[in-house]
Parts: sequence; C-alpha cells; structure tokens
Amino acid sequence: MTHDETRDYTDPTSEGNHPRYRTGRECIMPACKKEAGTAWSKYFCVKHSANFMRQVEAVRRRVQEQIEGVAK
Ligand SMILES: [Zn+2]
Repeated sequence: MTHDETRDYTDPTSEGNHPRYRTGRECIMPACKKEAGTAWSKYFCVKHSANFMRQVEAVRRRVQEQIEGVAK
C-alpha cells in the first residue's frame, strides 16, 4: 500500500477499504451489523474504521503538538 492509499480511510472505494480485508465477522460497534475488516482495523466496518482512524489521527496531532512545544 502506498502512502496516499493509507491516508484514504474515509473513502469507501480506496484500496484500504477493499472487500478483501473483510473478516467475515460483525463490526464491534454496538448495534452495527456490517461486516468488519479494513486495512486499518479488523474490528470495524468501513464507516466505523474511518471514525476510529479520525480519532487516532486527532490523538496523533495532539501528541505531535506537545512534542513540538517541548522541543522548542
Ligand atoms: Zn460498524
């Protein structure tokens, strides 16, 4: 997977959301019955995988900002 493809978790047609990543199990989010499995997570469906990755990205940005604050 290329760098651009790994960033594209919100696009249902992106490489990382290809059906070959599906696990055959249900998404772990309560009441979500969609099939889980993307390149980013085997636990979430495409939509919830994107939500999860947005949260991961927000945490990554906060940590990066803290590091930059300390490094100045
Ligand atoms: Zn889901």
